[in-house]
Amino acid sequence: MNRLRLLKEGLLGLVFPEVCQICKEAHATPGEGYLCAGCRGALRPVERPFCERCGLPFHGDVTVVFQCPNCHEMELNFESARSVFAAQGVGRELIHKYKYNRAFWFEPLFAELLRARVVPVTRTERWDCVVPVPLHPAKLREREFNQAERLARLVSQSTGLPVRGDLLRRVAHTDTQTKLTRAERAANVRAAFTGAGGSRIPSKRVILVDDVFTTGATTNACAGVLRESGAAAVCVWTLARGV
Ligand SMILES: [Zn+2]
Ligand SMILES: [Zn+2]
Repeated sequence: MNRLRLLKEGLLGLVFPEVCQICKEAHATPGEGYLCAGCRGALRPVERPFCERCGLPFHGDVTVVFQCPNCHEMELNFESARSVFAAQGVGRELIHKYKYNRAFWFEPLFAELLRARVVPVTRTERWDCVVPVPLHPAKLREREFNQAERLARLVSQSTGLPVRGDLLRRVAHTDTQTKLTRAERAANVRAAFTGAGGSRIPSKRVILVDDVFTTGATTNACAGVLRESGAAAVCVWTLARGV
C-alpha cells in the first residue's frame, strides 16, 4: 500500500469509524469499501451456469438445452450482459445505499469487483469505450449524481477505455410502469433514449454500464440507440443482477 493511500485511509478513519456499513458491527477499512469479510462472503457472485446472452443464472443440469425465459421473447440489441453479484441480501443493500444514501464509500469494493470481472474480457476482446446509462436531467438534479456514470468511471479506470457520456441521452422518465404490459413497457423505455446530437459512433464497440440489470429493458433500449447511432457492438456490464 502506498503512502498516499495510507494517509487517505487514515484521514477517512478519523471521519468514519472503521465499521462495516452493512452489519454495523465487524471491522472494515476504507480500502475494503467498509464491507467486512463476513458480509462480503454473503455476496452472491453471478457465476456460470448462466444464459450466455443475457447472463441470467440458472440451476440444474447444464447439458440440457437451456431456453432462457428472460431473453427468449426479446429482440436483443446487445451481444451479452454480465453482472458481478446478485441483487439479493447484502447485494441489494449495497446497491440501495449506494443509489439512495450516496454511499460512495463502497466504491473501492465496487472497483475491485468490477475490475476482476471486466479486465479479463477487455484483455481478450476489443472494446473501445464505456457508456453509462443516462439519467433524465430532472432526476439527475434531484439525485445530484448518476450511479451508472460513477460505475462507468470505475470501469474506465481499470480498463483504460474512455467514458463517452455524450453518446446517449435520456429524454423521458420511465419509473413507474407497473400497470403496463411487457411490450408497452419496452416501447416506452425505447422512446426514453436518443443518441446525443446525432453524433455518429462508427464501428465503435461499446461497453454499456448500469447499476442493476433486471428485465434488461433499459439496457436493451440503450443498446438499440447506440447501434442505430453506428456502434458495431454493445455489451452490458452491471454491478448487480435481479434474479
Ligand atoms: Zn459486515
Ligand atoms: Zn437469456
